[in-house]
Amino acid sequence: MEVYKFGGASVCDAKSIQNMAELIIKSDANQLLVVVSAMGKTTNALESLTHAFISNNGESFNILEQIKTYHYDVMNELFADHQHPVFNDVANVFVEIEWLLEEEAIDAPDYIYDQIVSIGEVVSTKIIAAYLQSIGKNVIWADARNYIKTDNNYREAIVDWEKTTQEIQRHLFHLLEKSVVITQGFIGGTSENFTTTLGREGSDYSAAIFSACLNATSLTIWKDVPGVLNADPKWFEHTQMIPQLSYHDAIELAYYGATIIHPKTIKPLQNKNIPLYVRSFVSCGSPGTVINGQVTESPFPSFIFKMNQVLISIFPKDYSFIIEDSLSDIFSIFHKHKVKVNTMLNSALSFSVSVDQNEQKVLTLIAELKEKYHVKYNTGLELVTIRYYNQETISRLTENKQILLEVKSRNTCQILMKSL
Ligand code: ASP
Ligand code: MG
Repeated sequence: MEVYKFGGASVCDAKSIQNMAELIIKSDANQLLVVVSAMGKTTNALESLTHAFISNNGESFNILEQIKTYHYDVMNELFADHQHPVFNDVANVFVEIEWLLEEEAIDAPDYIYDQIVSIGEVVSTKIIAAYLQSIGKNVIWADARNYIKTDNNYREAIVDWEKTTQEIQRHLFHLLEKSVVITQGFIGGTSENFTTTLGREGSDYSAAIFSACLNATSLTIWKDVPGVLNADPKWFEHTQMIPQLSYHDAIELAYYGATIIHPKTIKPLQNKNIPLYVRSFVSCGSPGTVINGQVTESPFPSFIFKMNQVLISIFPKDYSFIIEDSLSDIFSIFHKHKVKVNTMLNSALSFSVSVDQNEQKVLTLIAELKEKYHVKYNTGLELVTIRYYNQETISRLTENKQILLEVKSRNTCQILMKSL
């Protein structure tokens, strides 16, 4: 039993869907579950649609039309017969959204978000399943909302593992015995059968949940990069592909902001010791990266860059020490404003953190901190995290930079710096 996951980029047009279909047909897995994201940038478009509906800015039907056109164009290319039932099937999904848009947006925004944004995955999988059937591949479309059971914390729903395992083991196994099953990433359902989502980019996590509950032999995430790279090529010239990575290192890299896989993905796999392959759907002959329980002897350095950082330094007004109770007070203020700390350092009289420069959130946070503390801040900074650092890599990265903060543990070094 294997699980494949295809992200938005791998199903963004007719050609890539045909490529994906070929990969599925060529697979030698004796049983296969395929988890798919929304096509291309559909989730972003659906987010704009939700915003337009909630803010009543008059744009919602326009945005929906664009989303529909995009999907119909792809379908027209995939299906020679424009009377194919999939056209109706997809139209019905869009009609439900049209009904919703005609009402007033009175429900809670996060609930509305999930009802609208989830259709990206519903529609993509309907198209892909129908296409595979049309070229003679026996596949079944399955609704992930019946399997991934969650609470009703809309937009960031928490998985109910007991119910999810039960549903998957009771019902999905049978389907997989009959044929390849195509289902959605990112979405789930509450016990009352309302649709929820698991957080942006959550399809990797969905695939890991399915893999764990099915005791899969492996999960393969097909991407547009050859595997896990040791840095984002956008910020780094000499990237290298990492052939093998331990679960531990994968979690650390995702935690510090490597965008290769959703941070929640590893834990369910690690718990069941299921290897995760990250492979290229462009050059599917190359082996890519395997993430498993093996600990590498001498791993080479990986780099994670975060731009647009703000360094916030906090000083007690009365020159009292930064100790446990002031730290707990400071953290509760960060928590309240939902500002995530990317790195931190304290001294006797100051506590410094680096956070993403999100104008509004950070400004309101600073305003509240200022009620009790002296606060200084510095914007336009760059945070680099080096896993398995050495002096040479640090020197190379900090050339022509002013270092504002440096934190080191045995394996990880974080440097907050400014261009000179
Ligand atoms: N379609 C969702 C998103 O773009 C989930 C995913 O792609 O993983 O966030
Ligand atoms: Mg994606």
